[in-house]
Amino acid sequence: MKLRAVIFDLDNTLYDYDAAHEHAFGALCAFAGKTLDLSEADFRTVYRQVMDEQISRAGGQYAAIHNRMIRFQMILERLKKPILYAPDMSDVYWDAFLDACQPVPGVRQTLETLRQTYTVGVGTNMTADYQFRKLQTLRLLDLIDFLVSSEEVGVEKPERKLFEVCAQKAGCPAGACLFVGDSLSHDVRGALDAGMAAVWLSAKPAPAGIDRVTDISELPDFIRRKGGRP
Ligand SMILES: [Mg+2]
Repeated sequence: MKLRAVIFDLDNTLYDYDAAHEHAFGALCAFAGKTLDLSEADFRTVYRQVMDEQISRAGGQYAAIHNRMIRFQMILERLKKPILYAPDMSDVYWDAFLDACQPVPGVRQTLETLRQTYTVGVGTNMTADYQFRKLQTLRLLDLIDFLVSSEEVGVEKPERKLFEVCAQKAGCPAGACLFVGDSLSHDVRGALDAGMAAVWLSAKPAPAGIDRVTDISELPDFIRRKGGRP
């Protein structure tokens, strides 16, 4: 079937999430040291504990498990510190995170090229608010036709429903969509199971039968090799 839409994961696909998170986490540790009198090691420990607790309390893989305000509130409750610090922690984290958000090289040009021929979307596991803020900070919002967040659909990738809503918004069958992402399990296998084409963005060798690009700028050529218009 003719390709009609290219849909991207956001985190660690259009920008380096790990680098932005580490930068933001450093700012958070500094805040915790100064305001909560907590060492970085202790803060990292409680953060990990609360992440697990947040998932088990939500009872599944929902967008709410990514909500940092809930996480900071739970950290403060566990430490028996005033919850009035939760909004401050959220501001410290997200201000530093967005400051460190940089698009991966070539992403804007690639999206501009693809958008001449295809509908371009984003399908992402996270609450909508901060995914919009990230895309705004990356200055990519003007190149994206639609966004599907796990908050909007109530399930997370690799659940089929998220991919189905992507295809609905693209206005074409799943078989006419190509999904691009850094996660083999969430993005690539999820998209393939939903009937889309998929390409893994990774420097690692691809398993048999999985298409891979190492750099987002390779996508127009990849699509050309697959018989589509770049
Ligand atoms: Mg990702």
